[in-house]
Amino acid sequence: MRTLCADLGGTRLKLAAVENGVVLENEVSPIDANAGMESVLSNLGIRCREMMSRHPGEWRGLGVAFPGLLDESTRHVIYCSGKYAGADRIDLPKWASETLGLEMKLINDARAAIIGEINYGSAAGETDAVMLILGTGIGTAAVCQGKVYRGKHGMAGLLGGHFSIAYDNGRKCICGGSGCLEAYVGTWALKELAGDETYDFRRLERDYLAGDEKAKRLFDIQTKALGAGAVSLVHAFDAETVIFSGGASHFSALVEAAERYVIDHAWTPWGRLKFVVAEHPEDSVVLGLHSLFVHHVC
Ligand SMILES: [Zn+2]
Repeated sequence: MRTLCADLGGTRLKLAAVENGVVLENEVSPIDANAGMESVLSNLGIRCREMMSRHPGEWRGLGVAFPGLLDESTRHVIYCSGKYAGADRIDLPKWASETLGLEMKLINDARAAIIGEINYGSAAGETDAVMLILGTGIGTAAVCQGKVYRGKHGMAGLLGGHFSIAYDNGRKCICGGSGCLEAYVGTWALKELAGDETYDFRRLERDYLAGDEKAKRLFDIQTKALGAGAVSLVHAFDAETVIFSGGASHFSALVEAAERYVIDHAWTPWGRLKFVVAEHPEDSVVLGLHSLFVHHVC
């Protein structure tokens, strides 16, 4: 079975052709999410048709991952903070059917990532897991007893980046709150904490390994905050497995320090937590999208 899988990010569109869990082709292109959804769809339609023509044969559908709040059952966008204007007024399944002749499925991007890791990636077969994706902010998702946790309003599991880890004098968060996990961990917080617009995880890793004092201080904040966020997720969703993903998850000293924090602080009288680092985080979203057409449990 072959599917088209589109991951709509803040600044880039990742489109993949996936057949039976194998990525046949991957294409990343810049996208202007501020230009509105109509413009994004016209770009997406062209790229989808080009990819389909490069791989002649039968296509089962188009999976779309979206960085916002969705009604996944009706495949409609409900809210997307300032970007993709007009997405909530567009009938996306109708667009996919008329433009590409394909059935379309829509899912939040963090949810797609955990499904991809469980069905095809490093967390294969896990039934009770939480995921933390280290990027500009912190994306999260949860799977409970083999089912992706969605909740009444479709938000369950997604707001782990906005779990409060500091109630007093907490740092301001982009969500309007303060003391959120994301206000301490992730690239935007790291830049602010470092007082340097160019600071990122790559720089942190290099400086930390070289013994730099500022990097050690920032490393300490990142690992403790990430660990505290993971503990809250484990407690909230009764998870047995914690999955770390995103580009910065390959900074092994950082992830291992966060894991030690979780082991020391999580209350799991049933046994020991398991930790998994996504081996190919760049593929987890598209493989999760593919799963929507293949697996019954997702
Ligand atoms: Zn927040």
